[in-house]
Amino acid sequence: MTTFDGVIIGAGHNGLTLGAYMARCGLKIGVFERNAWIGGGCTTEEPILPGFRCNLHSNFYIGFSQAPVMRDLELARFGLSTIAPPVQHGVTLRDGTALTIHKDINKTCASIARFSKRDAEAFRGLHMTYAVKMRPLFTALLYNPPLPPDEMRERVTGPLANELFAHAGLNLFDAVDRHFEDHRLRTLFKLLMHVTTGENAPNNGMMMPLIVSALSDNALPIGGSASLTNALTRVIEDCGGQVVRGADVREITFANGRANGVRLADASRIEAKLFVASGIDAPATMHMVGEQHFPETVRNKLNNWHWGNHSLVTLHLAINEPPIYTSQKFDPDIARAFNLIFGFDDTDQVIRCFDQCRRGEFPDHLMGNGACNSQFDPTYAPAGKHVAFWWPFAPYALADGPEGWEHRRKEYTERVLAAWRDFAINLDARNILGTYLYTPRDIPLHNANMVNGAVRMGAYIPSQLGINRPHPLLAGYRTPVEGLYLCGSSNHGGGANGAPGYNAANVIADDLKLDRFWTPIAQPEWHG
Ligand SMILES: Cc1cc2nc3c(=O)[nH]c(=O)nc-3n(C[C@H](O)[C@H](O)[C@H](O)COP(=O)(O)OP(=O)(O)OC[C@H]3O[C@@H](n4cnc5c(N)ncnc54)[C@H](O)[C@@H]3O)c2cc1C
Repeated sequence: MTTFDGVIIGAGHNGLTLGAYMARCGLKIGVFERNAWIGGGCTTEEPILPGFRCNLHSNFYIGFSQAPVMRDLELARFGLSTIAPPVQHGVTLRDGTALTIHKDINKTCASIARFSKRDAEAFRGLHMTYAVKMRPLFTALLYNPPLPPDEMRERVTGPLANELFAHAGLNLFDAVDRHFEDHRLRTLFKLLMHVTTGENAPNNGMMMPLIVSALSDNALPIGGSASLTNALTRVIEDCGGQVVRGADVREITFANGRANGVRLADASRIEAKLFVASGIDAPATMHMVGEQHFPETVRNKLNNWHWGNHSLVTLHLAINEPPIYTSQKFDPDIARAFNLIFGFDDTDQVIRCFDQCRRGEFPDHLMGNGACNSQFDPTYAPAGKHVAFWWPFAPYALADGPEGWEHRRKEYTERVLAAWRDFAINLDARNILGTYLYTPRDIPLHNANMVNGAVRMGAYIPSQLGINRPHPLLAGYRTPVEGLYLCGSSNHGGGANGAPGYNAANVIADDLKLDRFWTPIAQPEWHG
């Protein structure tokens, strides 16, 4: 038996974030990862050809400039750096027109004004309110445990706050239509909501201002998404901790009602003197403890957890030259855009695409986003070569089940490529050196935490967001089992920003009365 002060399940970036904070507090930390590799959704592999680096999951580090991990853990010293391209998003439309969202708000408004002057001004207003004035509030909301609605209303008041809360009663699509008139703008924002996996559910409209707040704050990790998890691992190891690969945790053990370790698939036991934390989804965590230790209301909710209705099918390409989009003639900045979005013409197609995903059909119109990372960081490909990917939405299970992806991998590769070619003119045999299709079925085979190909470890619907994520009794990162904490993405936070790991670190530091080496982000407060 091996003994640690703190034992953490899963070496995704959230488990590693918590581990790094605790290790730097002087605790002896062990992180146990079932895969032979670390990183979870922050991994970089070379599945096509040597030297062509592909981020199989997280690629766009949304709002990472505000993430405290970078500063607190001095991740630059441990090998992490990021780049934030000036043209953040490029939307390329079938009719050859295009829209670009820049770091520079004036350039964004000029691009939108080519479609609608009114929408350009509406966007400027949204940007100034949510991405500039209220950005500190959103940062504080993300990097603190979620607030109960009553407390939120007390802490967040004033005219701008009322305008923000006015979105709460709307569904996502109505929240978008409230601000924009041009159908292309409306469709784009609806798709963007889905890109961050918000569902068009009643009372989910708050996702609209949230997304606007970080829309032009997307970064790419230099060298690959794995640079984040590699840097966090180095912090832990630098402090004497261990990140153990090939360690499949099967059971959380406890004595006298207190979590005191884990048991691995090979029956070995790891002892935790102070805490056990789970960086995997809450339902799996509950089953590792034994669901009888959780109140009925928690059991019911976690046993009926909604994983979300859509997943992603990704086509990765190794190429000689970056894709050239027809819309570059209309707006040359498309050629410099980081996040490329295409495939949709109108809202009806977006609705149909998600209905088809829900029904397990391959969508008629593939739509989604992608990037050519080697344009911004040459280390993604061998000298003079490039990698690009596009990840349209697709169901986890097709009519012939999840295995349907495996049976017709070649056919689906062709179908995704054909849809991409509707927008890019140079994706021909001369340019393409190799392809790799990463299907929704592949996602959970690669990462058991992404059940049914779930991108976010649970749908973003009001009953699973904020204080409801995953359940009010667990939302504060503590559990009914003493000494057991949650630090994964089925809690508040999510996306590659380390928020659940960071928030759990603050909660555990409070409970164990640890001396913090960092200054926690203040509680959300806004009166104006
Ligand atoms: C195709 C795709 C694209 C995405 N793109 C983006 C993006 O561009 N930007 C973004 O912000 N987010 C993106 N995401 C989401 C992002 O990957 C996740 O939000 C992020 O990985 C969650 O991190 P985590 O640490 O909470 O969990 P994970 O990264 O899932 O880590 C959990 C870890 O636990 C391990 N584990 C599971 N079970 C056990 C067990 N029993 N014992 C031990 N270890 C176990 C897993 O192997 C895994 O390593 C994407 C997801 C997908 C699927």
